[in-house]
Amino acid sequence: MRVRFAPSPTGALHIGGVRTALYNYLLAKKMGGTFVLRIEDTDQKRYVPGAEDYILEALRWCGIEPEEGPGIGGEYGPYRQSERKHLYADYAQQLVDSGNAYYAFDTDEELTKMRADYEAEKKVFKYDHSVRRQMNNSLTMDADAVKARLASGEPYTIRLKVPTDELVNISDLVRDKVQFQSNELDDKIMMKGDGMPTYHLANVVDDHLMKITHVIRGEEWLPSTAHHVLLYRAFGWEDTMPKFAHLPLILKPTGKGKLSKRDGAKLGIPVFPLSWNDDKPEDSFVGFREFGFDPGAVVNFLAFLGWNPGTEQEMFSLAELCEAFSVEKIGKSGARFDFDKAKWFNQQYLMATDNAQLAKEVRPSVEAAGYTADDDMMESFVGMLKERVTFITDFVETGYYFFEPVKAYEEKMIRKKWKPDNRAKFEELSQFITNMEDFSPENVTEKVKAWINEDSGMGFGAVLPILRIATSGTMKGPDVFAMMSLLGKEEVVSRLQKGYDAFDAIKNNA
Ligand code: GLU
Repeated sequence: MRVRFAPSPTGALHIGGVRTALYNYLLAKKMGGTFVLRIEDTDQKRYVPGAEDYILEALRWCGIEPEEGPGIGGEYGPYRQSERKHLYADYAQQLVDSGNAYYAFDTDEELTKMRADYEAEKKVFKYDHSVRRQMNNSLTMDADAVKARLASGEPYTIRLKVPTDELVNISDLVRDKVQFQSNELDDKIMMKGDGMPTYHLANVVDDHLMKITHVIRGEEWLPSTAHHVLLYRAFGWEDTMPKFAHLPLILKPTGKGKLSKRDGAKLGIPVFPLSWNDDKPEDSFVGFREFGFDPGAVVNFLAFLGWNPGTEQEMFSLAELCEAFSVEKIGKSGARFDFDKAKWFNQQYLMATDNAQLAKEVRPSVEAAGYTADDDMMESFVGMLKERVTFITDFVETGYYFFEPVKAYEEKMIRKKWKPDNRAKFEELSQFITNMEDFSPENVTEKVKAWINEDSGMGFGAVLPILRIATSGTMKGPDVFAMMSLLGKEEVVSRLQKGYDAFDAIKNNA
């Protein structure tokens, strides 16, 4: 088995593209096959610098490593179509020579006029079997005239001569049998006026030369497949034609239609793997990575957009997906892009990741906020918060108080819980803490609990919220004793003192 991911570097790679790459990769891994990356950059008008690097970086971030591709090498290179330019003309010529294609000299102006004339009659112009005999092409000229025009250097295209009155059958691994009536198909351009092949020609020629056995791609390519099947036939390559599998559309989070890049901006959610900065703000996007997603969670989420294992299991590592994946379980109907589900996967991943690894992933955002912390501190910090956050970037946001004094107190709680008359008792608590020698989490838990029980004259319900809010500002933090231990004795005592003053003031203003 040889599969390929064949993106065009026309901008940032949409998350749907990552899913296509992932499914190809998983299938290759499962079957002991080879996963090839091919860059389809023959459309010079749509080429965007930086897009190829983006594709590679996005795949690498997800752990989807091609075995052959640009910069990687392999037996069937080069893997960038712009570097294979010299190949395609011969194949186009073969098509002409065998009567499966023809030269077309129609100028852009002529074609534009034709389209306008059709539109005026509320019809849509299609360059197909019904009009080809009225057009300016080698089918309507004698051989000498064709020769002369070719020799004159005027630009021309080569078009596929789609056979008439035939059913083109496609057997698709996801959709079973799909049929196209050939009369519905246009005579697609194979070679453009600039001497570059179109997607269709280059794609089929390269799949053949690179010995691709399975073409797995998005559903939007299904109509093109009819032309591709005709091309395999025209070249006489039907015996080695790859098997096709067209993946279901990814649908908008709500409502009708497929997920688009605009949905991301509209809903404030990522629909690209990595951030992309364009000169135009409307073409700049925040990525899953920058949003604070763990790549494992993104891969897990994407795997389920159009596939499921047929069991209850939802959490899969990339290696487990490679084991479990199968084409038979790819769905036919569109898969809804459910961002809450993506968040859920991320939470599960954070909880399941060990603290040392998580500390490494969280450190950059801690440092970016201007804080410093050693590894032990980082590990305890992430360990305490990992069940309370959704994104990598949430750690430092929700847990800033591990690195600097509390910025704001939950005042409502203070108004309810702070009794100025108890201040003397709380001062005793500060003193009690000051006198402690062992400030390990276990000892803090044991001793402070004992103090509350035996010496405070107040219940847990009166003391713990005050301790929490004085040290962290919030009721939503982690275990209060573990948190105190990590902050350290002096810091806790200083926060308590500051807290008591602030709480008195809050009460006075109330
Ligand atoms: N270059 C096409 C794309 O951008 C490839 C489609 C295919 O896989 O054949 O998606």
